[in-house]
Amino acid sequence: MDCLFCKIINGEVPSTKVYEDDLIYAFNDIAPQAPHHVILIPKQHIASANEITAENSACVAHIFEVIPKLAKELGFAENGYRVINNCGADGGQTVNHLHFHLVGGRQFGWPAG
Ligand code: AMP
Ligand code: ZN
Repeated sequence: MDCLFCKIINGEVPSTKVYEDDLIYAFNDIAPQAPHHVILIPKQHIASANEITAENSACVAHIFEVIPKLAKELGFAENGYRVINNCGADGGQTVNHLHFHLVGGRQFGWPAG
């Protein structure tokens, strides 16, 4: 399968690893939008949030367990942060492997652009 994030998990495409376990992989975004910008992905290929089901959602719950740990480790938990999932064309998704952006280290505006 020609999936950039599967290639990152397999090591075919280099990345700066932030966290890894049996279920998930996290790495620094190549084009950071904040002082800290981590991408968290399930090791299982799930194309988008539209493909999350009762059968495969454990990795999503796990990602949300790891996020506060990383935020504390990286030093921005107390000030706050944002977790973003872009889904589909209107959502601005550019890589079709489910991923969550964890951004911190600055204040973010609302509503999203
Ligand atoms: P999205 O637009 O939500 O699909 O997010 C895809 C993200 O992947 C963007 O923030 C890109 O900067 C990031 N990205 C693309 N290629 C790479 C790469 N080789 N290594 C790290 N991050 C990447
Ligand atoms: Zn993939």
